[in-house]
This record gives sequence, structure tokens and C-alpha cells, in this order.
Amino acid sequence: MKHDVAILGSGPAGFTAAIYTSRAGLKTTVFAGRVPGGLLTWTGVVENFPGFPDGIEGTDLMMSMQSQAENFGTEVEYDEIKDISFSTDGKHKIVLSSGVEQYFDVVILAMGSEPKKLGIPAEERLRGRGVSNCATCDGSFFKDVPIVVAGGGDSAMEEANYLTRFGSEVHIVHRRNEFRASEHLVTRTKNNPKIKLHLECVVRDIIGADHVEGVVIEHTQTKVVETIPCRGFFCAFGHTPKTDMVKGKLPLDEFGCIVTRCHGSETDIPGVFAAGDCTDPTYRQAVTAAGSGCKAAMDAIRYLENVN
Ligand code: NAP
Repeated sequence: MKHDVAILGSGPAGFTAAIYTSRAGLKTTVFAGRVPGGLLTWTGVVENFPGFPDGIEGTDLMMSMQSQAENFGTEVEYDEIKDISFSTDGKHKIVLSSGVEQYFDVVILAMGSEPKKLGIPAEERLRGRGVSNCATCDGSFFKDVPIVVAGGGDSAMEEANYLTRFGSEVHIVHRRNEFRASEHLVTRTKNNPKIKLHLECVVRDIIGADHVEGVVIEHTQTKVVETIPCRGFFCAFGHTPKTDMVKGKLPLDEFGCIVTRCHGSETDIPGVFAAGDCTDPTYRQAVTAAGSGCKAAMDAIRYLENVN
């Protein structure tokens, strides 16, 4: 007997789960949304996904995962989800923005996460014109020009060090005088002669008419304001899990990630599982997301075997 599986999200977690459930003969729909593929499609070459010794474009990797799932019978729905309601004793309801309602025995939540933003108008006005959230994707556009990175975590350190391959100099702007990043990354950053630190400083504005020309920073103690001339600005403030749709319906942790049980993918509601970056504030790798998508699918398959 076939069962309906809904998978919300079309990144590595979602499509890996779909490969497993559709290969197991379950009728599987991936709700990909209007921009399928997840964050990997923002990335350039992915060099650390096992099996690709020369690297693979993030978009190509996601298209391959989708084709693999479709070869086993997965259907992909591009309409956006307006609402979802979970049931403890029956089918879970998904309402699409077109108004269509669909019911599923199992839901796997794999909505991923999105980069946090500065939240100022200039950031959106100059996005793609010097403002970016992805050093790997866009770093090479900034050859021999100054670049500013905001943030004090591992991502900021990694991105700043990576960007020194291209930029003439890289400025890190961080709001505190201590870093959240791990010690070895901080040491590497401090030893990099192309990196200049601006501690206890916050970004107030990004200037430029058609492209980024500078970043205005303010010292949090002295209130002194200065402009760092630059052509690139990268915000590395971490990520927000895309869990708004299930807020109040499932327990979330302090990061906003969906809480799962005992290193598995089960949530508090029978038949509802979660995987990938929307459950993971720490690793956020394509390969860890794919692995947790596999676990969610296996948990879902086992659940369906036991309820019938
Ligand atoms: P994160 O650890 O949450 O760091 C975000 C940084 O941005 C913090 O320094 C934070 O400042 C700053 N920030 C956030 N919002 C801000 C705001 N509104 N204004 C000013 N500053 C703001 O995020 P992440 O660096 O992306 O790392 C996330 C997780 O992935 C971590 O567990 C990390 O270890 C892991 N990761 C690991 C690696 C690696 O091991 N190679 C690489 C990347 C990420 P405060 O410090 O003051 O809060």
C-alpha cells in the first residue's frame, strides 16, 4: 500500500529524504517553493561534498539530486505553501498559495535556513552591486579592491581569510572586542597581514550610488564614525532557520531550530519529522543535511510500517 509523504524544502536534506522515500515505494511530493535548491544554489563550486574530486557547482549538485529523486517517482511542487496543520491522529494538511489543500500521512520538514541581514535599506539597494552574503559565490568579483566583512563568528573569519585571495585588503567589523569564532580561526585571521580588525564597531550604512563605495562604521564606545572605502560588503551574521511556518505548532530551540528527539528526526507529533539546517544550528553542511535527510526518511518509512 502506498502512503503519501510531503517533504518541505528542496535542499540536500529534502531531496535526499525524497530519494529514500520514493525508492521505498512511497508516493512522495517535494514542496520546493518558487526558488528550488536551497542555499547550495547560492554557492559556486562545492569542493567538500564527497564523490566529486574536482568539485561540483552547487546548482548542478542540486539538479542531480532532484533528477535522482524524480527517477524514483518523486513529484516536485513549485507552488508556495500558505499553511500547514498537523494532526495527531490522521493526515497532515498542506494549503498551497493557490488555495489547493493536500493531505499527507507523513511530513518531513527540511526548509533550511537563510543568512541573517544587517537590515538597512542600502543592503537591499546594493545587493548584487557589491553586497553579498556568500564569499564563495562572489569573492572573485572583488579582485584587488578593499572588502568589508561584518561579524565575529567562524563564518566571518573563514570568509575574511578566503576573501584575502582576491581583495587588496579585508576589513572585519565586529560589535564586541572578543570573537565568537574558534581560536584557531581567530589566530589565522590575526596572523593574516591582509586583514584589518575594527572591534567594538557596528555598520551604520553602506554608501554608493550604483555600487558599493564604502561602509560607514561607528565605534560602540567612542561613537566615532568613520567610512571604510571598499567595493565589497559581506554580512556574516549567521543564519536563521526557516521555521516560521511551524512556530507555535512544534517546539523550537533557542536558535529557532526544530527540536528533534534523541539524535533522530522525530518531532513531538507522530508522523512529522525534521532534517537539515532547520534542525541544526551548528554544522550546516550539505553533507550533514543530506545525512539527516536520509535519517528522516528512514524514520518515516519505519513509522509507516508500524502504524499499518
Ligand atoms: P555565529 O556563530 O552565530 O556568529 C555570528 C556573528 O555575527 C557573531 O559574532 C555575532 O556577534 C555577529 N552578529 C550577529 N548578528 C549581529 C548584528 N545584528 N549586529 C552585529 N553583529 C551581529 O554564526 P556563524 O559564524 O555563521 O556560525 C554558525 C555556526 O556554524 C557556528 O556553530 C559555527 O561554529 C559553525 N561554522 C563552522 C565553521 C568551521 O568550523 N569551519 C565555519 C562556519 C560556521 P556576537 O558574537 O557579538 O554575538
